[in-house]
Amino acid sequence: MARLWQAYAVAFFALIAVYFLLPDGLVADIGYLVIGLSCVVAILAGVAIHRPTSPTPWYLMAAGQAAWVVGDAFYTVEQHSSDPVTFPALSDVPYLASYPLAAVGVLLLIRAQHRPRDLAGLVDSLIVAAGIGLLSWAFIAHPILEHSALTGLDSIVALAYPAGDILILALLLRLMTGQSSWTPSFRLLVAAVLSILAADTGFVSALGESSYTPWLGFLWLASYVLWGTAALHPDMMNLAVPSLRTPTAFSGRRMIVLSAVMMLPVVLFLAHEALGLHVHMGTLVIGAAVLSWLVMARMACAIREIRLTTRQRDELHEDLFRRATQDEVTSLVNRPSFVRFIGSALERGVRDEEKSALIVIEVSGTGEVAQRHGHFYRDAVLSEIARRLEGAVERDDCVACIGPHQFGILIDRLGPETDLARSAQHLLAACRTAVSINGQPTSLSAYAGVAVSADGSTDPEVLLRDATLAAASARPSGHGGVEFFDASLRDELTQRNEIEAGLREALRTGQLEVYYQPILAVGAVVLNGYEALVRWNRPGHGLVPPDSFIPIAEKSDLICELDRWVLRQATGQLAAWTRADPLRCVALTVSVNVSGRNLATGSIVDDVIEALRVTGLEPAQLTLEITETVLVDVPRATAQMSALRRLGVSISIDDFGTGYTSIGQLGQLPADAIKVDRSLVSSDKEGARELLTLIVQAGHASGLLVVAEGIERPDQLATVTDLRYDSAQGYLLGRPQPASDENRPGLLLTDAQSR
Ligand code: C2E
Ligand code: MG
Ligand code: MG
Repeated sequence: MARLWQAYAVAFFALIAVYFLLPDGLVADIGYLVIGLSCVVAILAGVAIHRPTSPTPWYLMAAGQAAWVVGDAFYTVEQHSSDPVTFPALSDVPYLASYPLAAVGVLLLIRAQHRPRDLAGLVDSLIVAAGIGLLSWAFIAHPILEHSALTGLDSIVALAYPAGDILILALLLRLMTGQSSWTPSFRLLVAAVLSILAADTGFVSALGESSYTPWLGFLWLASYVLWGTAALHPDMMNLAVPSLRTPTAFSGRRMIVLSAVMMLPVVLFLAHEALGLHVHMGTLVIGAAVLSWLVMARMACAIREIRLTTRQRDELHEDLFRRATQDEVTSLVNRPSFVRFIGSALERGVRDEEKSALIVIEVSGTGEVAQRHGHFYRDAVLSEIARRLEGAVERDDCVACIGPHQFGILIDRLGPETDLARSAQHLLAACRTAVSINGQPTSLSAYAGVAVSADGSTDPEVLLRDATLAAASARPSGHGGVEFFDASLRDELTQRNEIEAGLREALRTGQLEVYYQPILAVGAVVLNGYEALVRWNRPGHGLVPPDSFIPIAEKSDLICELDRWVLRQATGQLAAWTRADPLRCVALTVSVNVSGRNLATGSIVDDVIEALRVTGLEPAQLTLEITETVLVDVPRATAQMSALRRLGVSISIDDFGTGYTSIGQLGQLPADAIKVDRSLVSSDKEGARELLTLIVQAGHASGLLVVAEGIERPDQLATVTDLRYDSAQGYLLGRPQPASDENRPGLLLTDAQSR
């Protein structure tokens, strides 16, 4: 099947040869018609076999060929009739009807290419068609009109043949401009049309002189077979498929063809002048005019293309530039460009002996906005803050977005009156003003770090890093959220980074240990339980107390990991003690400290459930200590505390008296106990005892147990006993100790009771 087109071509060219061997007569005539009909059948078979996406053009071509065969039949009858052959004859009707059919067929192929408007390609085809038209007119049509006896309708009919061929050829060339290569099927079609054009031209020029020659017959028959072969070739499906190549490109081949056509009038003129070839001058002038006009049109197309390409390139360039220099979310200057701006400002500063300053603002809370409302609103909030910052700075100051929630403000040329702290506060106020999300006002926190260029040798990246470090430490500094960078801050931050890295390592390699400090019931001096306190056996540093690393761990989620680890150890330890000595230990509790960040992230409830499940400790044996300040700093804290209490776990408010809880609020706290801070218990100030009295009474009135922390002296123990505190904890009653075998609850208890 794949080679059907070859079989058809070979068989029917052989038949053409046989036809010429046959003597004139009925058999030869039938052979002629069979070859013509074979073309129609081949086109229909090609459509059936290859199933092109748009078969209509091929059906129209088949109809055109069928009309031509009908014309052949009429012509044969006319030749054999006894009446003299006239021109035009009846056979000219189907012959001429075949042109529009084939032309519409090719036109539909062109349309099926679905290419975007390719005006330049169209003009190119018109130029070539005009060239062929000029040649045909100069050498065929004009001489015929000049010399033959044809007049009026006769001449129109005679010229309609080559004109129809040129039309189809032009359409084929137009089809070609949309394709990347001359496919075999396309070549065969062009050969078929050229063959028919040659035959028609020969026939028309012979009109009125001699008659039909075998050569003309061969060309017409060959045209049939070529057309049929084109339809049978598997490539016929690709004729209407557009190429991905830019069709209007000035390819080398196209330039050669177009230049050759453009030179035609000149060549014809020279042939006329130098070689004496007869060429009608009027034809030349009109041909040259038409070609010039077409070239103008082609130039217009080319200019339009250049303009379009230039515009596209400019747009692309602009887009790339914007992407390279602007932050996508806020449309502010992005980090790399900002660094360049800082660099230029520093250089100018050296020249003009002026300093520049950098303010980095860190906005916190955007992550929560994204979690609650989605990324769209997070971006909208950041854009709003960006606009506010732009509105809050001086005209010359540059505002940039340098991180997911970080902004940079470059204050060029610091004057003597510039108050950077005030400027930073002003910017922070702009960030902290509530933003409306879905009609709900939402406030974000913001902190600022300020760094001033020492001299022009400061590296822009270093200045930016310094201001960023200052912003990072502005949060806990308590200076209204503004921190100025100095060298000590850098050392402190380096040290912090070291500790953080060391702590991660400590968690991994088991350098942490839990110490247990007894909590005793006041009065009876009975052991109530222990507070679990973490220690770090840091290589080269000895036993590091938590105050030097917990605040650093609290800056990241590292604290959650650490608390989770202590929770596991402490619950596991008390569960083990209880299993070993249930009688003594079942009523004991272990108090574990929980950082505010743990309550903010919300993982604490799951952590507690998991720890109880794994260790088998009763929920009633676990107390979680939450620092009083967390109640204000973490909005979700009370909800988490309630959830924990529902598990059966107790909650104790640690360091009570250092935060902002008013005594009146005690009743609403989702807690079971308060631990009065050591600073109050050990205070010798006037009114200290009254304050301790007030707290214990208020606690009891709110149904809370009251624990005294930091009991170091017997008089302090006597005071809290007098005041009816429930429990007490302090060095006097027992220091924090590791949970080795010697320190089993019984021994610790004996130790405490003996004091
Ligand atoms: P805290 O929870 O208030 O723990 C009581 C602190 O006071 C402990 O210090 C304890 O050793 C100390 N202390 C107890 N009795 C006395 C006394 O009579 N005199 C004096 N001067 N101090 C006494 P430590 O172990 O250094 O812990 C300090 C803070 O570190 C704790 O205060 C707690 O807030 C935190 N912390 C300890 N372990 C953890 C933990 O595992 N997770 C979290 N998030 N924080 C912990
Ligand atoms: Mg505590
Ligand atoms: Mg405490």
